[in-house]
Amino acid sequence: MKTSSPSTIVTANDVTKVYQRGSEPGRLARVLGRSEPPTVSAVDSASLDISNEEIVGLAGPSGSGKSTLLHILAGLERPTEGSVLFQETDLATLSKRNRTRHRLKHIGIIFQQFHLLDSLSARANVALPLVELGIGKQQRRRQATELLERVGLGDRITHRPGELSGGEQQRVAIARALITDPDLVVADEPTGELDTDTGRTILQAFKEVAENRAVVLASHDHETLEICDRLIQLRDGTVTNRLKQESSSDEDS
Ligand code: ADP
Ligand code: MG
Repeated sequence: MKTSSPSTIVTANDVTKVYQRGSEPGRLARVLGRSEPPTVSAVDSASLDISNEEIVGLAGPSGSGKSTLLHILAGLERPTEGSVLFQETDLATLSKRNRTRHRLKHIGIIFQQFHLLDSLSARANVALPLVELGIGKQQRRRQATELLERVGLGDRITHRPGELSGGEQQRVAIARALITDPDLVVADEPTGELDTDTGRTILQAFKEVAENRAVVLASHDHETLEICDRLIQLRDGTVTNRLKQESSSDEDS
């Protein structure tokens, strides 16, 4: 259980991420021909902070830098410039090993393509972060089973991802992201691959996830963004707008 008063979980200060463009055949000629610059600023001097108990939406068209910013907040990628503070810790001061450990303990990540391991059962997928944290098998199984029950998959724990629907796989991915009881959950296009009804069920799950945690989700889907307490609009890697939203209806929950 996390603290009950709002506090800042993660802060990005003037974060910039510059990528080299790909070097596939034909690229070089085009770059030399100056049809496009050799680098791309995926994120350009973006600042934001996220507190527990709020869901923040990163909105913007494809290519606007949403995924890159999520990965930076999660410590999966390092910014070219600027800093990311996680509670009191500047992520840049951590060694690679400690950054990985920090991520395992404090951050839950839900990838767009789920990234579930096909050879493992739903339960083993959910338990995976606990393996990396050195938690024993009995406890792993117990926690993973509990979480799968909470996301409505109690009767699917030994199924493999290939035997599950898209919505069920998404719920396995959510359970895996929550298994370490993280302070921050980031989700990339969480409803991108799902039909509307499944998407709604998943969004309800997200509202529950947000209690006592900070949640950041990237999406260009209007209905998905509606569940967010506020929106940060990106365009070409730059924050162009910040919007508070009416607190989304809780009557139906
Ligand atoms: P979004 O998630 O909003 O679609 P991304 O963060 O994926 O945006 O990408 C932002 C920009 O950065 C795009 O122009 C994309 O092509 C570029 N980009 C993203 N990742 C890389 C990478 N690893 N190497 C080079 N360019 C990248
Ligand atoms: Mg993306």
